[in-house]
Amino acid sequence: MEKAVILKKGKEESLHRYHPWIFSGAIQRIEGKPEEGDIVTVYTNDRQFIARGHVQVGSIAVRVLTFNNEPVDQSFWNRRIATAHDLRERTGISSREDNNTYRLVHGEGDNLPGLVIDIYGDTAVMQAHSVGMHVNRMQIADALKEVLGDKIKNIYYKSETTLPYKADISKDNGYIMGGNASNIATEYGLKFHIDWLRGQKTGFFVDQRENRSLLEKYAKGRKLLNMFCYTGGFSIYALRGGAEIVHSVDSSSKAIDLTNANAELNFPGDKRHTAYAEDAFDFLDRMGNNYNLIILDPPAFAKHRDSLRNALIGYRRLNAKAIEKIQPGGILFTFSCSQVVSKENFRTAVFTAAAMAKRNVRILHQLTQPADHPVSIYHPEGEYLKGLVLYVE
Ligand code: SAH
Repeated sequence: MEKAVILKKGKEESLHRYHPWIFSGAIQRIEGKPEEGDIVTVYTNDRQFIARGHVQVGSIAVRVLTFNNEPVDQSFWNRRIATAHDLRERTGISSREDNNTYRLVHGEGDNLPGLVIDIYGDTAVMQAHSVGMHVNRMQIADALKEVLGDKIKNIYYKSETTLPYKADISKDNGYIMGGNASNIATEYGLKFHIDWLRGQKTGFFVDQRENRSLLEKYAKGRKLLNMFCYTGGFSIYALRGGAEIVHSVDSSSKAIDLTNANAELNFPGDKRHTAYAEDAFDFLDRMGNNYNLIILDPPAFAKHRDSLRNALIGYRRLNAKAIEKIQPGGILFTFSCSQVVSKENFRTAVFTAAAMAKRNVRILHQLTQPADHPVSIYHPEGEYLKGLVLYVE
């Protein structure tokens, strides 16, 4: 019997608008006893084909892979990866001489819900966020080899922390191909050690590339604080941009080691840079009015809708401290990467922070994620990175 999901009457409406998620409440019955991660065919209540996708336990029960009645086989994966690669080629990011760091697959934004692939030089780091993508990981790896050919020599699979905690599967990280990888990648002419074995996410925050580049233009002669620095991305761009001093702060000492290593890799012996392993709030409390360019790029304060309220309080407190202490004429780059915090939510939190600090604040730029993190117009939830560049009088 075909593995199939039959929707309740009328529940196909969001699928006509190509939204790729089917919530468990929309399902009338499941046939053919699919296991978690299997491909299922989705039918309307009067048994018309509507989609095909990965089934999973949880509130999002099916992640749609295709709205066409086509098999999800090796050729399907090859075509999807080729389409994703095309976008990066045509937007220029994958063919620049000064850059070999980019996102090749951005989940729903590439019609591959639950899958992220980042490219670092000749290594692809693949991360499954759904059981289905985990089940299909070898086919996806084959598709990568087919499409990228000898452009990649290593494929590292890293899903230990991103797969559902309860799923009954072995989630070990490891190389699917190669293993002898150099872990230095280049982003817009700067070099970074990427630790995909132990680092956060796929090892690097590729999504801040364009925002780092904008920061570089504002860095000349400035005294800069890079709060939540992780690998020091913003700091290294600031050094190239001619900043007078650059202080990097992160609560993780591993992050501070990485930041120091990356500063050393690009600007050996440069005395302008110092890194501190310290909690953000402690540092902001004790620092004086020493900075006129501050970056706040905290981890997602809200991972789920229930924590939204506390997250907004967190963003408000953090921004209020920075706005209060930044020198007159200072510039603040402030971000939120929480998907559940909307652009409006975030702006309101920062607005409240500005009012609390009683400073005159103007918005210079409104930032988001770069083109290699595309947002499907049918899946606005995919827009997760929000940033404001503020001028504080
Ligand atoms: N700006 C970075 C990415 C930041 S990720 C980039 O461009 O790559 C968020 C970082 O915040 C992590 O490195 C994490 O270790 C750090 N962090 C989390 N909680 C913190 C806290 N309370 N104080 C300081 N750093 C914190």
